[in-house]
Amino acid sequence: MKDCIFCRIIKGEIPKQFDFESDVLVVFPDINPSADIHLLIVPKQHIEAIESIEKEHARLLFEVYQTVSSLVAKNNLKDNFYRVVVNGGKAQHVPHLHFHLLGGQWKKMV
Ligand code: AMP
Repeated sequence: MKDCIFCRIIKGEIPKQFDFESDVLVVFPDINPSADIHLLIVPKQHIEAIESIEKEHARLLFEVYQTVSSLVAKNNLKDNFYRVVVNGGKAQHVPHLHFHLLGGQWKKMV
């Protein structure tokens, strides 16, 4: 999608260091972190929101949570509090489905 900021990041039009990249998703730090660790897991495909998820996205969602699981291990979050947040409706500011992984000290609500 032309004006979507996450699509522009994925296409390399906006420079961004990825913590992880696979054929279907990228991971990068949130620009305005709400916790000590605040990573965004973003599918490469432009899926607008939770309501746009279809059966064909099942493998992608599995990979998202597998990635979360390895990020939890990599950042030593397993024995601490962590959350995975998906905003929707008016709480969602970027209209491209993404998953917030928040860990460590919580600063504010995403
Ligand atoms: P949401 O309200 O769930 O749509 O969250 C969008 C998130 O994207 C916010 O936490 C923003 O801080 C984050 N964000 C927006 N633009 C960028 C960017 N260029 N790089 C990293 N994070 C961003």
